[in-house]
Amino acid sequence: MGTDRSIEFEGPCPCGQGTIRIDDCEVDHSWPTATPQWYESHLNCESCADRFSLERRGAKFVLVERSALREREQRMTVAREKSREILGDFEVKAAVSSFVDLLNTQKSVAAIFRLLKAAKLEYCSEATFRKHWREADAWVRSNVRPSALLEIYGVLELNIDRLTGLLEELKALELHAAEKPEAYGEPVYVLE
Ligand SMILES: [Zn+2]
Repeated sequence: MGTDRSIEFEGPCPCGQGTIRIDDCEVDHSWPTATPQWYESHLNCESCADRFSLERRGAKFVLVERSALREREQRMTVAREKSREILGDFEVKAAVSSFVDLLNTQKSVAAIFRLLKAAKLEYCSEATFRKHWREADAWVRSNVRPSALLEIYGVLELNIDRLTGLLEELKALELHAAEKPEAYGEPVYVLE
């Protein structure tokens, strides 16, 4: 079992000292496989490879500056930190702790399931829920993300003004982090 490669594109790198090559790769057998065909791209130039990464975006292969990719990583880190900061916020922690108490005072797992389902905090079937349910603390640890907090505040009938402000800050950071770095120049190659 191996790979058949053929050159899909070959051209000069941005500085002209090396090359860019895109290979069309296929598995060399005919039985079903998850990825029977894919592309591999190579930036065969030391100085350009230091500066650029070659990325496929849909039908296009584009160069992206590594510095822009690092900046995006930083934006994603900032958004993740904000998310942790929100979960560690004194008011949020108090709300989550009240929610754990509320779950613990339910009379049965079925009652907990009904409560979570009504709050749109669970979408699975009751059978699946029962299979995975252990205790309120564990459920909160694996399910409570900032995106679940409005529902939790709703169940507890808490004022959401401050939370909404925090979530808006997070959303702005996440949108900023989701922006893909701009491609450098024209696409290197476009698939037909
Ligand atoms: Zn080069």
